[in-house]
Amino acid sequence: MSVDAIITLTPDTAPDVVFKRKLAEGELSYQQCEACSSSVFPPRVLCPACGSPEMVWKKSSGHGVVYSATTLYKRGEDPYNVSLIDVDEGFRMMSSVINVPADDVTIGARVMLQISTDGEEPIPNFVKGTK
Ligand SMILES: [Zn+2]
Repeated sequence: MSVDAIITLTPDTAPDVVFKRKLAEGELSYQQCEACSSSVFPPRVLCPACGSPEMVWKKSSGHGVVYSATTLYKRGEDPYNVSLIDVDEGFRMMSSVINVPADDVTIGARVMLQISTDGEEPIPNFVKGTK
């Protein structure tokens, strides 16, 4: 196999930079491979399924289902949950469901994106419920 494509990464085109920029604009983005149609997340330069550099950006609807949930207890702080979300567009992401008690996130629950903007960087969280 030969690699004909030359991948040029600049501070503006690095996948994580593009993702964060789109997130700051209120969009949960992911990539889709043009060669094998895989949904790719987190953002990468090459498709992890087939190695192709032909990746296009797509916008997620922000809807998904809880695949797994874990409650973490940190001394002196409120417990919080870390959940894996199967997003409807076919990728799984690590996030947190923030509108229910940390230990009350149920596997299989429908959730939707809520971008938290109270920190230094926007964070893609989810809330339980459907729209
Ligand atoms: Zn691919």
